[in-house]
Amino acid sequence: MPAQRLIIKFGGTSVGSGQAIASAAGIAADLRRAGHPVAVVTSAMSGVTDALLGGAAAAVRGERVHVRELAETLRAKHHAAATELGLTGGERAAVLDPMDGRLTEFAMLCDALAVLGDASPRALDAVSSLGERMSVHLLAGALRMLGTPAVPIDAAEIVRTDNAFQAAAPDALETRRLTQETLGPLLADGIVPVVTGFIGATVDGVVTTLGRGGSDYSAAIIGAALDVDEVWIYTDVDGVMTADPRVVTDVRTLDTLSYREMSELAYFGAKVLHPKTVLPALERGIPIRIRNTFNPAHPGTLVVGKSDDPVAVFKGVTAIRHQSLVTIEGRGMLGVPGIAARAFGSVARTGTSVSMISQASSEQSICFLVPQDASSTVLDTLRREFEHELARRDIESIWSLDEAVIVTVVGAAIKQTPGVAGRVFGALGLMGINVIAIAMGSSECSISLVVEAKDAEQTVKCLHTLI
Ligand code: ADP
Ligand code: ASP
Ligand code: MG
Repeated sequence: MPAQRLIIKFGGTSVGSGQAIASAAGIAADLRRAGHPVAVVTSAMSGVTDALLGGAAAAVRGERVHVRELAETLRAKHHAAATELGLTGGERAAVLDPMDGRLTEFAMLCDALAVLGDASPRALDAVSSLGERMSVHLLAGALRMLGTPAVPIDAAEIVRTDNAFQAAAPDALETRRLTQETLGPLLADGIVPVVTGFIGATVDGVVTTLGRGGSDYSAAIIGAALDVDEVWIYTDVDGVMTADPRVVTDVRTLDTLSYREMSELAYFGAKVLHPKTVLPALERGIPIRIRNTFNPAHPGTLVVGKSDDPVAVFKGVTAIRHQSLVTIEGRGMLGVPGIAARAFGSVARTGTSVSMISQASSEQSICFLVPQDASSTVLDTLRREFEHELARRDIESIWSLDEAVIVTVVGAAIKQTPGVAGRVFGALGLMGINVIAIAMGSSECSISLVVEAKDAEQTVKCLHTLI
């Protein structure tokens, strides 16, 4: 393979123990040795982000003992990894000291949260960012142990974002400038930068996060900023599969997917890649590969502009659980302009994103899906917005059905293949599965339907037989 500039990202399980970190470092070191300039992006060790956020929640409840125990568990986990990696002497101190510093920061932040009895999104980002700000040291240390020069980099220095804490959006131009300035000289000197995934900082230097699972997105953002040849996402499965391997047993790994198919699979619930990852890569035409840290010989899944698999109509099936189907209905809505605009406008003002708009049989109702934890806020807002219409009975009711699941089949050929919907509904009809609503995907390369939670698994399995 000719020399390629690569970003390689390791997920939580891939850096989940000393042994895993050694494997991840081995992959990066081999690529470097083969002549590829490599920058690494890493997640926190698996379970650490959840634990940190659990600590913040405990602090808010005033459970200081719980927080102290958690800090000790986290310290032990990171120290054990350092020991497992065989880090000793000065190298051990270079890795452990900054990590212990982050744990002290965790304790101080939790103390502040306990005093306030409340945690703002900004404070939660300060806490949840600490996992990646620890794991970078272990991975950089492991690379140096293999004789590969490596330095930890805090993405707060290179990924500039807005201040939408917990779901910050990057400023591509500023990020490009900062990333090239910081990582460019390291790469030119043959040094491997090991960058924290998941996080960025505002123009004032306040730490932000890109959203849960956002390290994949970090890799694509930094990859685009560096104009790399490919972004490789190392995880704990062989690539993107036809369905979630935890739900369906006879899944297979997909060789190639188009950006469009990948983003649809991710958006509709395939946890293997953060849904925003595709965009920066697509904009610059950078291929993404999804590969397995624990089976590095497997080629994984290649995501490119156009997938070369025109035969398969259906590529994958996904599910998003814990949704609420919100319905606004009433005969007086018929032909009244502006109802939909007002409905979606008021939902947007609650900060809730609509997962999907469902096809109504007539103009007498509007149906859409929102995450279940937002449903009561959304209903309250809608009832206020349509107070007059409800009083006049133009709108008869605004209600929601909880525990709805969106099941989606994805494939670029769906749009040009006749009879696709018939196959989908025929298969479900044979199984006696009740489809509550049909939903419009954001593009024509998917069909989504809404079922009750009790039918979700069977629906996914049934549609998987069509692939
Ligand atoms: P990482 O920590 O490496 O980012 P994640 O846990 O976020 O890994 O994502 C990988 C997991 O996604 C897999 O272990 C698998 O259980 C799950 N998954 C869900 N749907 C799919 C799919 N279609 N293909 C592959 N993995 C999937
Ligand atoms: N550590 C972060 C999370 O658990 C980001 C990531 O792993 O991608 O959400
Ligand atoms: Mg992930």
